[in-house]
Amino acid sequence: MVVTKIAKIKKTGKSENSAKPKDLEKDEKSKQEKKPKTILQTPTGMSDILPQDQPYFDKILKISESFSNFYGFEKISTPILEFAELFEKGTGIDTDIVEKEMYTLRTKGGDLLALRPEFTPPLVRAYIEHGMMSLPQPVKLFSAGPVFRYGRPQAGRYRQFHQFNIETFGSKRPVVDIETIYLCYNILYSLGIKDALVKINSIGCRDCRPCSKKHLINYLKKKQNFLCPDCKTRLKNNPLRVLDCKKESCEQIARGAPQLLDHLCKACHSHFKRVLEFLDELKIPYLLDSCLVRGLDYYTRTVFEIVAENEKSVSQNALIGGGRYDDLIKLFSKKDIPGCGAAGGIERIINLLKEREVKVLQTGKPEVFFAQLGDSAKIRALKLLEEFRKNNFLVAHSLSRDSLSKQLNLANRLKVKYSLILGEEEVKRDSIILRDMKTGKQSLIKISNIVKEIKNKLK
Ligand code: AMP
Repeated sequence: MVVTKIAKIKKTGKSENSAKPKDLEKDEKSKQEKKPKTILQTPTGMSDILPQDQPYFDKILKISESFSNFYGFEKISTPILEFAELFEKGTGIDTDIVEKEMYTLRTKGGDLLALRPEFTPPLVRAYIEHGMMSLPQPVKLFSAGPVFRYGRPQAGRYRQFHQFNIETFGSKRPVVDIETIYLCYNILYSLGIKDALVKINSIGCRDCRPCSKKHLINYLKKKQNFLCPDCKTRLKNNPLRVLDCKKESCEQIARGAPQLLDHLCKACHSHFKRVLEFLDELKIPYLLDSCLVRGLDYYTRTVFEIVAENEKSVSQNALIGGGRYDDLIKLFSKKDIPGCGAAGGIERIINLLKEREVKVLQTGKPEVFFAQLGDSAKIRALKLLEEFRKNNFLVAHSLSRDSLSKQLNLANRLKVKYSLILGEEEVKRDSIILRDMKTGKQSLIKISNIVKEIKNKLK
């Protein structure tokens, strides 16, 4: 498929109404009236990642990091706090993220800091601060961690959430856009999301955007009485954003708007054409979405979101979003260095995996349980547990329990293959009981041989 084919317009489902701080305050007040918050609750829009959800988190982090690593992205960790101005300048003062959703704080020293609402500006900052522009280009970075946005909490939309993030600095080539998309698509595929669909658009560059913007503004002005109040303001400050407003009246207007693709300059047109050709060659399912502009100011040329095609529920919200930002680094360093990146929402991916009942194997599940009886057995057990640890065996135990039946019940619940039982008598005889939990068969083994014995049994 090439650019000249008319984009089939299809919007991502759920409403993402951008709430004004006043609305948010009102919302929270009325919520508080209904149900007073106590200090024993997480703050609104934030949640604990409970032990049962950790395997999902671990798996997504592990796969995103190892895939990124394979494609040459090096891991970097930046502070959760940055100067607020970094986002005002980088993400853009007119974006919802900065205008309405940034958590800021004034330090005792007087600095205005912000909890990072996204990764790209901090990574651009790190790239410049550490002189990475003098390294062989492109420089490819991977990051992951919590991000914060003070939006209206709703399904799949939180105030603290986690992202994995990749950025490529220093190459204008369309293959970089494709590598970014391909990597993200493969991460989802490998997690079990086989129906990922890439929604894609090109919003042009600083040369051709003024022209497409002019056409769009002329069109929107004629319809302005039917736009929502937010979009009336956007028409003045950030008209492209009217295109991805999720209010029904605005959606209808957006569908009839002049397409950005029709006004791309020659260079943007051939860049995008090449990106789409690559997508075809790689057989990645995609949909040209002429209303996709994404919420951030810095994007140029390719923008994309990845959704699960068969999802009719809230999970059809974008799982991953990204694009090219060829003018962002220049904003900070005066150097003309292009960039391209993407971020995946870990909670959204987890919600989808759970909704689809995709099982995630618990990593580090013990196969052996160590039961003990009596004080001298407890001390001996501790020493022996350390032997197992040094030999990389995960052995479950419960030293605070005295009853053997309770300990074996726990072993059954954990579905271990073997239990070790050490009582005072066994300590005296320098031996330990090895019990096969499936057959119930028991044997007495010399303590000095037990690690080797378990090693053989679990081969
Ligand atoms: P963005 O940084 O806005 O480009 O978003 C990248 C990805 O982060 C999205 O595709 C979502 O999966 C996720 N995401 C964005 N905002 C939120 C939020 N408020 N709550 C949960 N996930 C989010």
